[in-house]
Amino acid sequence: MLDRLRSIVQKVNAARDLQSALDIIVSRVRKALDTQVCSVFLLDTDIDCHVLMASEGLNKESVGHVSLQLGEGLVGLVAKHAEPINLEDASLHPSFHYLKDTGEEVFHAFLGVPIIHHRSVLGVLVVQHEERRRFDEGEEAFLITLSAQLAGVIAHAEATGAIEGISPSGHKTSDTVFHGVSGSSGVAIGRAVVVFPPADLSQIPIRRARNIEKEIEFFNACLELVRVDMRALHEKLAGQVAEEERQLFDVYVRMLDDSALGNEIVERIKMGSWAQGALAYVANEHVRNFEEMNDPYLSERAIDIKDLCSRVLFYLQEKETVETEYHDNTVLVAEELTPAMLAEVPKDKLTGLISVKGSGNSHVAILARTMGIPTVMGVVDLPYTQLEGKEIIIDGYKGEVISNPSEQLRVRYLEIIEEENQLVEGLEGLKDLPCETADKHRVHLWVNTGLMTDVMQSLDQGAEGIGLFRTEIPFLLSERFPSEQEQFAIYREQLHAFAPKLVTMRTLDIGGDKSLPYFPIEEENPFLGWRGIRVTLDHPEIFTAQIRAMLRASVGLENLQIMLPMISNVNEVTSALQLIKKSYRELIQEGVKVKFPPVGVMIELPAAVYQTRALAKMVDFISVGSNDLTQYLLAVDRNNPRVANLYTAFHPAVLSALQQVVTGAREEGKPVSICGEMAGDPGAAVLLMAMGFDVLSMNAAALLKVKSVIRSLTMEVAQDLLGQVMELDDAQMVRSAVDLALYNAGVDRLLRSSRTN
Ligand code: PEP
Ligand code: MG
Repeated sequence: MLDRLRSIVQKVNAARDLQSALDIIVSRVRKALDTQVCSVFLLDTDIDCHVLMASEGLNKESVGHVSLQLGEGLVGLVAKHAEPINLEDASLHPSFHYLKDTGEEVFHAFLGVPIIHHRSVLGVLVVQHEERRRFDEGEEAFLITLSAQLAGVIAHAEATGAIEGISPSGHKTSDTVFHGVSGSSGVAIGRAVVVFPPADLSQIPIRRARNIEKEIEFFNACLELVRVDMRALHEKLAGQVAEEERQLFDVYVRMLDDSALGNEIVERIKMGSWAQGALAYVANEHVRNFEEMNDPYLSERAIDIKDLCSRVLFYLQEKETVETEYHDNTVLVAEELTPAMLAEVPKDKLTGLISVKGSGNSHVAILARTMGIPTVMGVVDLPYTQLEGKEIIIDGYKGEVISNPSEQLRVRYLEIIEEENQLVEGLEGLKDLPCETADKHRVHLWVNTGLMTDVMQSLDQGAEGIGLFRTEIPFLLSERFPSEQEQFAIYREQLHAFAPKLVTMRTLDIGGDKSLPYFPIEEENPFLGWRGIRVTLDHPEIFTAQIRAMLRASVGLENLQIMLPMISNVNEVTSALQLIKKSYRELIQEGVKVKFPPVGVMIELPAAVYQTRALAKMVDFISVGSNDLTQYLLAVDRNNPRVANLYTAFHPAVLSALQQVVTGAREEGKPVSICGEMAGDPGAAVLLMAMGFDVLSMNAAALLKVKSVIRSLTMEVAQDLLGQVMELDDAQMVRSAVDLALYNAGVDRLLRSSRTN
């Protein structure tokens, strides 16, 4: 059973487009279940119908022509209830709707199961039989399992058509929406530039060759280099491996011949593709075909093709580094965006960001928010390699990417962009005003930074301090650990630019989703592994170099605070303090006139919440990292788009943990701040202020919006609201209560979550 399932899924996976995928499904399932009919109906939202897209057993002519209205017939019923229907005789069921021209009248037994992807029903998979009998439990279970596994493949195939403006049943469409999650709010219209990591055949985007002849010449030259390598390997292995295995290299060389793979690739280049795209296309086609074969020897050949083509790709990428051309309104697209990819694009050309992987709390999204660039993350069904050069709309509020925009929609979004600009301009007058409530309660708005550009932007927005300098960002952009002197220069620049305002530097927080290319950490469960303080305490040489650089950079400015990430117990704080004191003493002995800085602890783990008082006793301040705290309290990976809908800092458990931290810090007489992303959400900021946080630290782009909201309310209103929401037991209800309060205060314009609806 499992073998049959696996083989069908594998074959469907290998299909080149939606129609071939569906044809494979119906023919294979009919065979596997030994039934007379297998059909697939898919929902076409453009015409609001379930269309018969493929069938084995029904009249072929009716495929693509027969359709059912929503809710019509047994298919409509399966889709409506998202449940299987298994009948001995379909024609006796009150919902039965006879489909003319299909020839289905002779079939009695009917089993239909829904095809569900991300909670929405894409269509229905049906098997039918002449005999009057119920399909047995095993058959039903088989079809349900298969349908669950195929849903993702079908959704992907549908999306591939949709990006070209074609609905599942072949209608022309526009305004195709791909759903992800918000990474950074705002909307943008721009042209896609797809970027990709080197040496990965599966991520090469479709691009046109600039000069076909030159491209062919270049490809042939690279091919020749691989041939030379292969021959050399062949020679080198003489006498070391069996002659039979050595022959493999001859086979490789032959595969590259003009009459084989090489020729196919050249043909594709002649059709206009760039060499890397042509290579990737041909390689992936062959790999699919081989993988589809039942013979284990032949399916192994898929590995040979991959290996061989990867070698060619290596030369194509190494011998001619293709300069990525960025449009004036670039929307940067990647399977997994990295901070380095962002850094490559000239800032004035970067309009929007799309990452297929990751979620709103991934570090790249945080960086995007700091830069104020509309971003959508976790658009898992987006066929991103086909987006190059296409015009797309990014809705960073709703977390949507829209391709093939109609003129009407473009105009609508242009209006929103214009309104946004006006709103931002309207807030500029607040820059130099204090952040206080209408009844004069003062809160401090600080910023989170990572790069020097953030510092400039933050000062421009009237930030009163830096609550979190993510020191790992310069480490991530470097090719090796920066030396103490290099770090000194980076830290000095930040401290100097902000002086005399305080700058909170967090010690290196790597691990989790932040891995340094030159210090890879491979773990099964990186968020529960070697992360943050755990890494630096195990490497005191890295920790002390950083502390020394920070202390030296603060000389004469005296505006440094040091903050420790990922603390889970008091011993970590004791050890870190010992190392900081040791570095301090050494510097004093070296004659450096440094002042011992305030040291604080981040509360990011549930364990630390319960130990707030014990931790607060040991240090000068407490700062909550609500991004990680939410992740660990709710057991929701902050990077995983599948569970992104469960990730919310408005969860009552998160709110009560935050309140507990404030109370604990207060009891020890220590200041408490928050530097997670929720501080930059105007609604959340009101709650945090009411809880008693002294400092809210956020991305610079959010600062004036938060200030505007806080200045429009009284502390009394904020505390009333907090009192109300602490009684609620559901995150959605909390969010609604907060939205309503802001609406009543007349500042809902700044919330925007429903703006683009
Ligand atoms: C946090 O976890 O809330 C935080 C501020 O740290 P980071 O997002 O860098 O993990
Ligand atoms: Mg954190």
